[in-house]
Amino acid sequence: MKPTTIDQVLLTEWIVNCAQKMKAHRDWLTALDAAIGDADHGVNMERGFDEIGARLAGYRGEGCGALCKLVGMTLLAKVGGASGPLYGTFFLHMGLVAAGKQRLTESEFAAAFAGGVDGIRQRGSARLGDKTMVDALLPAALALQQALDNYSPLCVALRSAAAAAEAGMLATIPMQASKGRASYLGPRSVGHQDPGATSAWLLVLSAAEVVCLAADPGLLIQ
Ligand code: ADP
Ligand code: MG
Repeated sequence: MKPTTIDQVLLTEWIVNCAQKMKAHRDWLTALDAAIGDADHGVNMERGFDEIGARLAGYRGEGCGALCKLVGMTLLAKVGGASGPLYGTFFLHMGLVAAGKQRLTESEFAAAFAGGVDGIRQRGSARLGDKTMVDALLPAALALQQALDNYSPLCVALRSAAAAAEAGMLATIPMQASKGRASYLGPRSVGHQDPGATSAWLLVLSAAEVVCLAADPGLLIQ
C-alpha cells in the first residue's frame, strides 16, 4: 500500500471531523466534567472548535505548520480553563515539527503528534496516572510510533493509537486525580472518567477516521 502523506487538506479534514465529534459529544464531556470539575469541558471544546471552523472557512494557508499554528492559537484565545491552553499547546508544538512543510510523511506526522503530547506534558507537568488527557494521549503517541516501526500503514497505526487512547481514557476511572480541578476532590475523584482524557480519545479517533477514509474511501470505521 502506498504510504499516506498528510497535507493541509487532510489536516483540515481531521480538524473538521474533530469539531463534529466535540459538538456531538458536548453533553457527555460536560457531564463527565460535572462529576469531577465545573461542568464546562464539552462547552469549552465546542466553543474552541466552532471558532476554528469559522477561521478555516476561506483560509488559504501556507502548509501544515501554519495550519497547526492557527488551530493552536485559536484554542489558546477562545477556550478558557485548563484544556484551552493545553490543547492549544498541543497544536502549536505539532506546528513547530510541521513548520515549513506542505505535506508530512507518516513518520513526520507521528513525530508532530509526539511533539504535541510533549508540549502538553511540559505545560501541565502531568504524568501518566495523574488522571488527565495525558493518560490517553501518551499511550496513543507510543502506539502510533510502535505501529509505524512495525511497518503498519498510517491508517492501521492510527487505529492502534485510538485503541490505546480509549484504553488510557478508561484507565482514568479508578485513578485519583493529582492535576487540575479534579485534584481538589482528592479520593472523591476516584470512580469517574476524566473529561480531558475523553476529548483526547475523540481527537485521536478523528485522525484515524479521516486517514483511513483517505487511504480507502470504501472503508468506513465501525
Ligand atoms: P477546567 O478544568 O479549567 O474547567 P476543562 O474542564 O476544559 O478545564 O478541562 C479539564 C481537563 O483538563 C481535565 O479533565 C484534564 O484532562 C485536563 N487537565 C487539567 N489539568 C491538567 C494538567 N495539568 N495537565 C494535563 N491535563 C490537564
Ligand atoms: Mg471544567
